[in-house]
Amino acid sequence: MNITRDKIIAWIEAFAAVLSENKAYLTDLDSPIGDADHGINMDRGFQAVLNKLPSVSNQDIGAIFKMVSMTLISTVGGASGPLYGTYFMQMGMVTNGKLELTLEDWILAVESGLNGVIRRGKANPGDKTMIDSLLPGLEALKAAANDSASLAEALEKSTAAAEQGMKDTIPLVAKKGRASYLGERSAGHQDPGATSSYFLFKTAAEVLP
Ligand code: ADP
Ligand code: MG
Repeated sequence: MNITRDKIIAWIEAFAAVLSENKAYLTDLDSPIGDADHGINMDRGFQAVLNKLPSVSNQDIGAIFKMVSMTLISTVGGASGPLYGTYFMQMGMVTNGKLELTLEDWILAVESGLNGVIRRGKANPGDKTMIDSLLPGLEALKAAANDSASLAEALEKSTAAAEQGMKDTIPLVAKKGRASYLGERSAGHQDPGATSSYFLFKTAAEVLP
């Protein structure tokens, strides 16, 4: 079963809902190692995305992702606006003109998004950033596809891997972003961006199959 445009729209709505429910949690995570705004930033951005969704709901998936990107870039201050904006822009590039996606298309979109974040933010794996959940999530997707897993199984596995990657940021010392200003004192805290990125996979597994 392919991923339809309606499912993509439902995924964006589900991600927005989870960000809204977890606004205080994400902001609390950003309090000891940042400036206590990650939940506020992400929720502001995705509420603006929700407002614009009806205007693109009959366009192709690439156009929908591009709207998400432009909206995040124009409404979210802080590191996460341009980084998530880049993620969705790259997803939009490789889904341009498509009205549904195969598992392979989805993997390409997730990989392109991650590569955009890496090019833009210059973080390496283990730097305690959103990459630390995005990369294991992608690798699990690819491994599942190689094992001929179904879409649902592949999305479940990627969610588990992204969750583990998120938890594995706790002992890390931040090398990028505001948390890096704390040096060794950034260890012992879960990265807020890795947490919001885990929600990308979790909502995908709930909504896309
Ligand atoms: P700000 O740090 O500007 O206040 P947010 O609080 O919204 O922005 O987002 C912080 C998150 O952004 C961090 O938890 C981290 O995951 C992510 N981040 C910061 N810098 C980078 C980077 N260079 N590459 C990837 N992710 C980054
Ligand atoms: Mg912050």
